[in-house]
Amino acid sequence: MSAILYLVIPCYNEEEMLPITSEVLLNKREELIRLGKISPESRILFVNDGSKDATWDIIKGLHEKNRAFSGLNLSRNRGHQNALLAGLMYAKDHADISISMDADLQDDPNAINGMIECYENGCDIVYGVRDDRKEDTFFKRKSAECFYRLMTFLGTEVKENSADFRLMSKRALEALSEFREVNLFLRGMVPLLGFKQGTVTYKRASRAAGESKYPLRKMLAFSFEGITSFSIVPIRMITYLGVMIFLISLLFLIWGVVQKFRGLTVQGWSSLITSVWAIGGLILLAIGVVGEYIGKIYLEVKDRPRYIIEDILD
Ligand code: UDP
Ligand code: MG
Repeated sequence: MSAILYLVIPCYNEEEMLPITSEVLLNKREELIRLGKISPESRILFVNDGSKDATWDIIKGLHEKNRAFSGLNLSRNRGHQNALLAGLMYAKDHADISISMDADLQDDPNAINGMIECYENGCDIVYGVRDDRKEDTFFKRKSAECFYRLMTFLGTEVKENSADFRLMSKRALEALSEFREVNLFLRGMVPLLGFKQGTVTYKRASRAAGESKYPLRKMLAFSFEGITSFSIVPIRMITYLGVMIFLISLLFLIWGVVQKFRGLTVQGWSSLITSVWAIGGLILLAIGVVGEYIGKIYLEVKDRPRYIIEDILD
C-alpha cells in the first residue's frame, strides 16, 4: 500500500499566492497518486498563521470544493516555525509522511518525487537543498554564508542551504514531538533526530506573487534564535575573555613594577592599572561561571529527549 502524504504549507497573508499554489500542488498530488507513489488519502494541509487578509477564507473555499485540501487555523500569528510545527504535529497523527514547503512555490514541487524516492529507499528525513543561491541578492547570500559558518563554529549542525523544505516520516515526526522546547529552530532540531537522512537538490525559484514575509528584521531575529537556542558557547566565551583579561593584568603587574623601579611612572599608577585589569578579568570570569550554570539550567529546562530509538527487535 502506498503512503499517505501530507504537504504542510504555513501561510501568512498569502491571498495572492494561494490560488496558484493550490492548483500546482493539486496537480502534483494527482500525478503522484497516478504513479502509485502516494495514497489517494493524501492531503494538502494549509496552516493559516493568523493572516490579516483573506487567506483563511480561500483555504475554506478550497476545502469546500475539494477534500484534498485541509486547513488548520491558528488563533493568531505565531510565526513561520510555530505554524509549521502545528502542521507537522497534525500530520504526525494522520499521515505516513509529511513534506513541508513554503506557500510561495519557491520550493520546487517537482523535487517531491525525488524526496519520496529517497523515503522509499529507507530515509526518514530528506532535505531539499538548493543547488545555488543565484536567486538571492548579494547581501542575502553573504549573510547566509556567515550564518552557516557561525552555526558550525558554535557547534550546531545545520544542513547548509536547506530551509524548511523537507520530508519527514511519521516516526521522525514522533521523535520531533519529544522535543519540548518553545524557542523553535526546526532546521537545527531535525538533524538531532538522527535516522537515515537524505538530500535532494532543487533549484529555488523566486517568489511568484506577493512579497516576502521575512524582512531583514525577522531574519536577524530568526538567526539569533538559531544561535541562542542551540548553543551556550557565547556564554563560555565570556569565561574565556575573563581568563584572558586576568592574564593580561598579570602582564601589567610585571610591567608596572618594572616601570616603577625605572622611575618612569607617576605615584600610584602601577597599582591602579593592575587592579583595574585584574578586577575586570575576575568579574568577567565570575559572570562566565554563573553563565555556565545558567547554560546548564537552560539545557535542562528544554527537556529534550536524551535518546531516540530507531528500531526495536523483539
Ligand atoms: N510565514 C508564516 N508566518 C509568518 C511569516 C511567514 O507562516 O509569520 C510563511 C509564509 O506564508 C511562507 C513561508 O512562511 O509560506 C516563508 O515565508 P516567505 O516566503 O515570505 O519567506 P522568504 O522566502 O522570503 O524567506
Ligand atoms: Mg519565500
